[in-house]
Amino acid sequence: MKIVYVSDLHTNLKNYDELLIVVKKNKPDLLIIGGDIFPRGKVSDHINFAENYLYNYFSKVKEIVPEAMIFFILGNDDWKDAEKSFAGIEEKGLAYYCNCKKVSLKNRFEIIGYSYVPPSPFKKKDFEKLDLKEDAIPLNPSEIYISRGGEVVVTNPSSHFSSVGTIEEDLNLLPLPLDFSRSIYILHSPPFNTALDKVMNGLSVGSRSIRAFIEKKQPLLTLHGHIHESYSVTKRFYEKIGKTVSINAGQINLKVDAVIFDTEDIEGTIVHTNPL
Ligand SMILES: [Zn+2]
Repeated sequence: MKIVYVSDLHTNLKNYDELLIVVKKNKPDLLIIGGDIFPRGKVSDHINFAENYLYNYFSKVKEIVPEAMIFFILGNDDWKDAEKSFAGIEEKGLAYYCNCKKVSLKNRFEIIGYSYVPPSPFKKKDFEKLDLKEDAIPLNPSEIYISRGGEVVVTNPSSHFSSVGTIEEDLNLLPLPLDFSRSIYILHSPPFNTALDKVMNGLSVGSRSIRAFIEKKQPLLTLHGHIHESYSVTKRFYEKIGKTVSINAGQINLKVDAVIFDTEDIEGTIVHTNPL
């Protein structure tokens, strides 16, 4: 099964266009988008983008490869309240929104998505949770934003992080695959202390609980983004954790950064559109 994987397209419509060219060239069975998909703005801007741009975009992908399935999640730079705008996309069978959901494919592969990342320096917190229960609540930034009822509201780190649980808890509550060796996880945060989670100064900022989950459960694949710059720091876009292949396809280059591979022989086929 051929997969084109991309993450963190954010507001870059040029990259969305280039991704269509990658799809045309590679004719994947699956196109997977790993979060941070929206241009910055209000919740209503996100909803407009989903209903006007994304709907047509996914239709274009289906014109190029009619049999391809599209899976996506949101990331920490997206408002969670915008997810209600995906109903039309899902009803038409254009794409599957996978946060905390499992989608089973005919060939017994299963896709499970999860958007949350550990606390970041950014103010948008819809998709941030403490990694582990014992982690301290970060008090900076002191004023943070979440989406509620279609509006952005101001809150503070203590009330937010103490009420939403942890990534570790969530990972135990995600739907279980029938067979971990045929499971594909789309997890916006990369695993901690890998080639995939390094910021410019070399520090690891990925998720400890995601790493522990991968080590213990050994899915076939985990697909990440979020720390765009890690590829330029480590020069690596994938890493093996035991039997699992973990990939970060965040955007760092002027041309779209996408990763293409076949599940029959992941390491033998994996390529990056911008090899370093
Ligand atoms: Zn992100």
